[in-house]
Amino acid sequence: MATYDRYTCITTKRWGKLRACTHSTVGAVALLAAMLSGSSQAGGLQRVQSSPFGRAGDRDVQLYTLANIHGIQVQVMTYGATIIALKTPDRSGQVQNIVLGFDSLEPYLAGVPYLGATVGRYANRIANARFTLNGRSYQLDKNDGPNTLHGGFQGFDKRVWKAEAGEDHRVARLRLNYVSAAGEGGFPGELTAHVTYELSDDDALMIEYQAVSTEATPVNLTNHAYFNLAADPQQTILDHRLMINADRFTPVDATLIPLGNLQAVAGTPFDFRKPKVIGSRIENDALQLRLGHGYDHNFALKKPRAGALTLAAVLSDPASGRSVEVRTTQPGLQFYTGNFLGGSSGGLEASFKRRSAVCLETQHFPDSPNQPSFPSAILQRGQTYSEITTWKFRVHK
Ligand code: BGC
Repeated sequence: MATYDRYTCITTKRWGKLRACTHSTVGAVALLAAMLSGSSQAGGLQRVQSSPFGRAGDRDVQLYTLANIHGIQVQVMTYGATIIALKTPDRSGQVQNIVLGFDSLEPYLAGVPYLGATVGRYANRIANARFTLNGRSYQLDKNDGPNTLHGGFQGFDKRVWKAEAGEDHRVARLRLNYVSAAGEGGFPGELTAHVTYELSDDDALMIEYQAVSTEATPVNLTNHAYFNLAADPQQTILDHRLMINADRFTPVDATLIPLGNLQAVAGTPFDFRKPKVIGSRIENDALQLRLGHGYDHNFALKKPRAGALTLAAVLSDPASGRSVEVRTTQPGLQFYTGNFLGGSSGGLEASFKRRSAVCLETQHFPDSPNQPSFPSAILQRGQTYSEITTWKFRVHK
């Protein structure tokens, strides 16, 4: 049994990879009892279902639906290990989709701005699409002006992952696996990556990332869900409230590459230490807001120690009563207000309304491979990359 902050995880070898997490010790004892009894269904609820979802090139894509006893549903497709829908109840009990997504594969194949996708090998930007590691220089894809964004032209969001689903008492689980060849996108080492989604009856979705590599390589994996807790993409998220557990953020240049320093949030529109309405200061004439076209910045999360699973952010929508609490082991959080949605770039990005969703991407800091003062994002050969993010869904009356 492992304890991360207030989160307790139990792993038992009795059924192979059976693993479950809960927020309390009492919950952990109940969980363990249920796991040992071998019970796997709650009142006939089918926790995991799957169906074909089309083809990407010569690969079949499968859709998995994870469900819990409170009607929460998470739909994940194997293309990009992508969350295409996440349905939760509002205060009147209405279960609706709170993330941007499509109910067919075609739009994703045509190119969407990472909607709900697992992003890798390196989430966010690497300056000038290059870095040096152990004396060797590596050239990556320039897919965002001069920089690399979200792994390059064919990142993990555009790969078909292998899936393995399971369920046990109180937990629906989907484990996805992708092997990224050495040299793919310019990165060194063959990287074997796993993403596990676990939806529990505690109304929490745990996303666990693991990876090993045959050579030292930068790794930064995240999920790129766009939340709209009102479940209405015709509305912006400017009246959502947000708390971010960070005293400092990483200011950026005009191409959204961190300058290398940490800036205090105190006295700036970046102070979300107490919950604030997102739209209240977004149009302030602050240089960093102008450069980001709104919020598109990495926050350095407050942690008692590196790697602790701690509270990162709380997003809430007073109108629907929904909230999401984000916890993570990762050092940073990209707070992005969908500033490029609805843009003039054409394609599917333009089909969404500007600022109709907010991303809270837990991550290593952008451009860490070129920034020696940032927490290292290098995975050494023989080490295991291991990060957890949880989203806890609540309804406020
Ligand atoms: C980045 C944005 C980008 C968006 C979609 C976010 O993680 O910070 O700048 O537009 O992803 O690609």
